[in-house]
Amino acid sequence: MQTHFSPDQLQRASVQEADRILRACVHCGFCTATCPTYALLGDELDSPRGRIYLIKDMLEKDKPATAAITKHIDRCLSCLSCMTTCPSGVDYMHLIDQARVHVEKTAPRPWADRLTRHMLRTMMPYPLRFRLMVHAARLGAPVLSLFPGKLAQRLTTMARAAIAQPLKTPGPASLPGTFHPKDKAAPPALRVALLAGCVQPSLDPDINESTVRLLTQMGAEVTLPPGQGCCGALTHHLGDRDSAITQARRNVKAWWALHQKSTLDAVVITASGCGTTIKDYGHLLADDPTWAEPAAILAALACDVSEVIERLSRANPLPPMPDNHPGRALPVAYHSACSLQHGQKIRTLPQALLRAVGFTVSEPADPHLCCGSAGTYSLMQPELSGQLRQRKVDTLAATGAKVVAAGNMGCIKHIGQQAQTPVIHTVQLLDWACGGPRPPGLE
Ligand code: SF4
Ligand code: SF4
Repeated sequence: MQTHFSPDQLQRASVQEADRILRACVHCGFCTATCPTYALLGDELDSPRGRIYLIKDMLEKDKPATAAITKHIDRCLSCLSCMTTCPSGVDYMHLIDQARVHVEKTAPRPWADRLTRHMLRTMMPYPLRFRLMVHAARLGAPVLSLFPGKLAQRLTTMARAAIAQPLKTPGPASLPGTFHPKDKAAPPALRVALLAGCVQPSLDPDINESTVRLLTQMGAEVTLPPGQGCCGALTHHLGDRDSAITQARRNVKAWWALHQKSTLDAVVITASGCGTTIKDYGHLLADDPTWAEPAAILAALACDVSEVIERLSRANPLPPMPDNHPGRALPVAYHSACSLQHGQKIRTLPQALLRAVGFTVSEPADPHLCCGSAGTYSLMQPELSGQLRQRKVDTLAATGAKVVAAGNMGCIKHIGQQAQTPVIHTVQLLDWACGGPRPPGLE
């Protein structure tokens, strides 16, 4: 694709990056076939190629985002399915990130949109504020639906989501501390830091409990250092790059202090949406004079929990479930979160681990298509998100499985609101198979 940035514009690193990405696109349109929003809407401007044209025009002319551009950029899920399909290796992720920042700074958004986005940015990444927000949404739910207008609609959607998700008390595996390998006589097979997450400890703390139990059983020493927090994905996807950088820097500081004390073998992430962002910290903090290098080193150490389990299992293979284990009779449908399959290119490992312990695993039709969760997308674009979820729930149900496994809490909660079967994190099923408690929902 030809670009027409001026020499002045090309002085800026961000423009150089956009120029490089845009020039890689050869307009072939292969990406449209696997784009969920194009599949639903059939509009070229809601396809990757259409959005690339819109972004090119907006950035080249350095013009404020119009209402139309904002609409089509906002509708993108950042699912990155287009990156998996693209034969030219177009780095759509960094392009849409830039576009979101530009839109956030320049778009004439209605005040209801601005207020909702501000609330999500400033409340969700902070566990206490998030809990307050959920309580407030529950209290306000009965009256909100009586009001007309977009803001009331948005808040009603949020309140409904809050009611559907009971708040839980974070367990020890979500709080700062170190967990030693079960076999105290042996040195740790791996020393890892574990990201507790921002929302996960309040909505599904059992995921972290299962992770610590399984990893320590397999010989790892697991530390949750003080000072870590939200990974920054949520604010970044809302176009607030500065807050994302602040949040990333805070995590890098926390993990770097630990890495200096006792060398880390991995930074473990159980929510694949966070994992995709953390694996990109080297890029996000590239201009930070102090933290660029530590960020790049830690990003290279970042692993999805399935990757660490696989590493540990090389020396200490996961034992198959005994024949009388109830998991033997429980067919599993594996939902591949976009951030795991497209963002991190982990496509077969979780299924292989589940099979290794004795689960029967199937996959739904169109596994590349997003479930519609996508961070705050389900709150900001409830209609599109709802349609994608219904598709996903139907294809998962068609497998005949009795439980759905997934590696991202956002997908788990989103699909779980509609599915007739329990939706459980992969690590909880593996932990159960290896002697841990039966996951909630499978009683
Ligand atoms: S990230 Fe997903 S929704 Fe956005 S353009 Fe690519 S495939 Fe479409
Ligand atoms: S598949 Fe890649 S090269 Fe082809 S139009 Fe899409 S982004 Fe451009």
